[in-house]
Amino acid sequence: MTTLPTFGAGIWHFATYKDRYATEGYGPEVGLLEQIDRAGAVADLSVVDLNWPFAGFDGTLDDVKQALARNNLRAIAVTPEIYNRDYVKGSITNPDPAVRAQALKLLNEASVLAKELGCDYVKLWFGQDGWDYPFQVDYGKIWKLAVDGLRELVGAHPEIKFVIEYKPREPRNRIIFPNAARTLLAIQQVDLDNLGILLDFGHSLYGLETPADAAQLCIDAGKLFAIDVNDNFRGWDDDMVVGSVHLVETFEFFHTLRNNGWDGVWQLDQFPFREDSVEAAKTAIRFLKALHRALDRLDEQGLAEAQANHDSLTAQRLVQNVLLSCLAEDTPQTAPTPTEVTA
Ligand code: FE
Ligand code: FE
Repeated sequence: MTTLPTFGAGIWHFATYKDRYATEGYGPEVGLLEQIDRAGAVADLSVVDLNWPFAGFDGTLDDVKQALARNNLRAIAVTPEIYNRDYVKGSITNPDPAVRAQALKLLNEASVLAKELGCDYVKLWFGQDGWDYPFQVDYGKIWKLAVDGLRELVGAHPEIKFVIEYKPREPRNRIIFPNAARTLLAIQQVDLDNLGILLDFGHSLYGLETPADAAQLCIDAGKLFAIDVNDNFRGWDDDMVVGSVHLVETFEFFHTLRNNGWDGVWQLDQFPFREDSVEAAKTAIRFLKALHRALDRLDEQGLAEAQANHDSLTAQRLVQNVLLSCLAEDTPQTAPTPTEVTA
């Protein structure tokens, strides 16, 4: 068996959430240190991605470092909050130069923090940079602001990587970096080695990409710096437990990563609104370990031969052979009694 990958999670996985209906939240608020402790309770996580500023947290950076250390966790990334109320018309593409400057200041501060924490990268998620209506923006101008803003930020911190996490929509109806191809185009235009992509599997799914193909495109460009995994029904960013809906496409995604020798962190970006967050992470990792076993056992030569002929039926059989049998391995050995089954 090959070595297991490193598992990680966005720290927000362990928070509680609000939406426009349950405005009081889906549960009592969970503070940052408690979120870190919950991440530690999963036991299989080695790294976390931290939002910054630390919202609602009045402790010190040392408190955060201690919480990470006592849970054997490392911060892999800082995600600056350039998508809150201050940036409802965008961060680096905001029409107001003063807001653009404020966004860059925040991004620069986040980059300094990421270096201090020993992170691998700063994650840029431009959720508010985009538009909602036809005729709302000048597409040429907003694109230029995005590329110029990125070049200024990323060029100022050559010691650390930056990743753009693309997403088709939400909160803006159209986000300026909605898919792999358009994001790669911007990265090409910025032309700096330390700028790449974080491919969120769920964003790719509901953007109607084939996530494995999007991953290959990013890898071929030398730009797949990180991934997030989760699942959805392909109509929205549901951020469900990984593997709960798109079993085969998730397997294909990880197969593409392995075939290319990509060995980064397998990172959870899930929002368990109504589930226990620690259990949701454990369920996800149980599934990811099964996928990893299945990758070890896949008949690669048979699959390569099938693909050489575009033979979809043989490919399906080979995938089904290993995927379903490997998933079963982790189930309890004792069969449930008939009463338990009907309960
Ligand atoms: Fe994500
Ligand atoms: Fe998302």
